[in-house]
Amino acid sequence: MVKQLKIIKMAQKQKAQKPDVGKILQSYIKSRLRPVGVKILKEIPKDQKLKPEKPMRYSQLIRAAAEGQDFIVEKDDISDPNPQLALGFCEPKYVDVQPRIQPAKTKAVRIGPVEGADVVLMIITPKAVMELTQIYKKIDAHFSGELGVEGEATALPYTTGLPNVSFLCNSARLLSGYRPSEVILSLPIKDAKELAQKIKQREHVRQTTINDVKKLSKQFEGKSPVQIIDWALEHFGDKIALANSFSAEDAMLTDIIWTINPPAKIFTLDTGRLNEETYDVWARIEQKYGGKIQSYHPDAGDVETLLRQKGPYSFRESVENRKECCEIRKVEPLMRALTGLDAWITGLRKSQSITRKEIETVEWDDANRLIKINPLAELSEDDVWTYIKEHDIPVNTLQKRGYKSIGCEPCTREITDGQDIRDGRWWWESPETKECGLHGSSRKN
Ligand code: SF4
Repeated sequence: MVKQLKIIKMAQKQKAQKPDVGKILQSYIKSRLRPVGVKILKEIPKDQKLKPEKPMRYSQLIRAAAEGQDFIVEKDDISDPNPQLALGFCEPKYVDVQPRIQPAKTKAVRIGPVEGADVVLMIITPKAVMELTQIYKKIDAHFSGELGVEGEATALPYTTGLPNVSFLCNSARLLSGYRPSEVILSLPIKDAKELAQKIKQREHVRQTTINDVKKLSKQFEGKSPVQIIDWALEHFGDKIALANSFSAEDAMLTDIIWTINPPAKIFTLDTGRLNEETYDVWARIEQKYGGKIQSYHPDAGDVETLLRQKGPYSFRESVENRKECCEIRKVEPLMRALTGLDAWITGLRKSQSITRKEIETVEWDDANRLIKINPLAELSEDDVWTYIKEHDIPVNTLQKRGYKSIGCEPCTREITDGQDIRDGRWWWESPETKECGLHGSSRKN
């Protein structure tokens, strides 16, 4: 009896220690949809209760399973013309690169829980794929568009490094004729477990960083922007950069950064919709300091599809459309700009808007998963302009015309005295929605 109890306790302990791969992946990618497991069955099960009532598309099956259904599927239960590699019904083209499963032996598959599965499938955004690949650089990424199997693209060129998500989505688009806003990532269970393990380890590092960051922010109380930047450049070396949008704040930061350390990385997001005046000040800044501002541009294919499908002013039609445009033109290029960095510097100030009242000098940027330093957090607008005048810094001429915030030409305008700085952005929206995804949901600490 005692022996039995011991065995039960040991089994319970082992179970408790086993990481729940599906849950870990889902919480990391913050997806409403849970990851799905595919179990290869070498025999057709006699109990056919879980068979779909009629043949479904591959992507429908995955989506339904991600919402909690459980299926037993044979090849004929899939209505797509080409049964999927990820489900094991067709010969992998690149079997020499990484054989995932044994297709020839597949008679049916069970699509449902991750536990006990051979392959894990996740419906996620390209951005999430990029984040995952930064953690685990050898994902054998296998993508298809959200709506169909025709968009399948296998990550052949990326088995030795980071999968290039733009390439994959472009391939999916070329093959399928639509823009996949979501992709299906498939991972052999062994890799999914390893990935979950790495996420758990990183979560520990993240928590430690958040605690450190809180202490740092306290230490910097009362310190000047020069002191904060001096420390940051020294501490992070070439793993830190300034995101420069050519606002007055960024002009001040550029002066401080390039005076302290001329080769320090400063980048900008050239959305393709900037004002002429912004390019003008960009050139003048480079001339004054002799440095180069690195520009990051949106993916040409994404912009092309957006304009073809929704026209040049879709962002005026809804918050959702506006966020889509910002995602393509700003957020995705920002992710590339931040790749490989440990920290970034921004010109955010508390008094700029109601959405920025809570910012700290140093904070954990949960959206981009790195440290964010806001050296001007406590400064007023007057403080910034005093510094600019004293140091004779080139500024955007839009500022003199009443622009308090510099952004894309069709979405930014001048404001009058007493208005909130963010009133000059997306004036057709309510104040609470006015962030573009670069800074909107970054604080979790
Ligand atoms: S600010 Fe306007 S034009 Fe620029 S990316 Fe956002 S929605 Fe598009």
